[in-house]
Amino acid sequence: MKVLVINAGSSSLKYQLIDMDNESVIAKGLCERIGIEGSKLTHKVPGKEDYVIEEAMPSHKKAIELVLKALVDPEHGVVASADEIDAIGHRVLHGGSTYTESIKVDEDVKRVIRECFDLGPLHNPANLMGIEACEAAMPGKPNVAVFDTSFGMSLKPYAYRYAIPEEYYNKYKIRRYGFHGTSHNFVSHETIKYANLPEGHQRVIVCHLGNGSSISASVSGKAVDTSMGLTPLEGVVMGTRSGSIDPAVVQFLCDHEKLSADEVLTILNKKSGVYALSGNLSSDFRDLSKAEAEGNEKAKLALDAFRHSVSKMVGAYLAVMNGADAITFTGGIGENDAEMRHSILSHLGFAGVKIDEEKNSQIHGKRAEISTPDSAIRVFVIPTNEELAIARDTVRLAF
Ligand code: ADP
Repeated sequence: MKVLVINAGSSSLKYQLIDMDNESVIAKGLCERIGIEGSKLTHKVPGKEDYVIEEAMPSHKKAIELVLKALVDPEHGVVASADEIDAIGHRVLHGGSTYTESIKVDEDVKRVIRECFDLGPLHNPANLMGIEACEAAMPGKPNVAVFDTSFGMSLKPYAYRYAIPEEYYNKYKIRRYGFHGTSHNFVSHETIKYANLPEGHQRVIVCHLGNGSSISASVSGKAVDTSMGLTPLEGVVMGTRSGSIDPAVVQFLCDHEKLSADEVLTILNKKSGVYALSGNLSSDFRDLSKAEAEGNEKAKLALDAFRHSVSKMVGAYLAVMNGADAITFTGGIGENDAEMRHSILSHLGFAGVKIDEEKNSQIHGKRAEISTPDSAIRVFVIPTNEELAIARDTVRLAF
């Protein structure tokens, strides 16, 4: 069975065609600059040269048409016709409080995705366009929506409600939703399987550390807390996002810099985080680590602030779950940056965490247990694979 996974952004669209018989990637690619001049599609097939189509993509509909064109291309393609694609799985940012699980797309599902445009203004419209483009290009094929927010739906009200007047929750459903849900769900379940954690001892903290970073606490694969909130801005310090700050900062900046709330939020989303603390040096942790090693004080401040905020959140989740059975690192930084894992874990000696330093230093982008046999909490690196998680849900729900 072949599943096409679509991750549509406002001006980009990533895709993967996965053979679910062995869960391998048959082809993948990226459409860039949709709706902007200079759009192009880059199509990658393992063992072959990249195939680039430079053609105007005024809409997501056109982008999907080009994806199918690349997939069936006589020279660069991987299938004889689109008929070989059995189902399509879509990453959808926001499902509001309606969907606690992935779901096969019908008119009701599309209505809810539309109703959540307010909550995910950049992503939900693009996600819906991706779905409608696939419906038009592959009529009759099942589409499944996999929501980034559904993992957070198992939180108890005391964990998801903000302590603000009830009417705002009732009217607008302002609450903690959490994001990176597909990754947290996948990695927490993979941790349970890989570590063979016994029933009743499946308290897992997942540190998804990438350009965007979030931490989750889950018991038996069900989230009990997660660090992102109504939007992905809340939580730990990130690449360009501030993470949690005193909301009064927004009003202060509006007043003193004569900015609108929208403009301040753009600054907090795109010009803050380690990028800002490093004096706009970079949001990329490889650049920052190099600069820190060369004695750059601002790069050190940025990385220290990141280490501080992540270890603080992990400590909070140890309290939330009265301990943990496993802590797992994932995401570009979590999977690759051994020094960052070391410094975050060095704050957890109080909880009996002991790291096999040599093992930790050798692990880049692959599964491993990096704690010592006598560590009170086992520590893992497990690469995330959101596309595979989406494809698995698609197979489960499409037919
Ligand atoms: P996204 O949130 O966009 O999916 P990723 O999970 O790909 O991001 O993570 C990107 C981050 O991972 C970048 O800051 C990058 O510097 C960092 N990263 C990737 N590889 C390494 C590495 N070998 N060492 C340190 N950081 C790395």
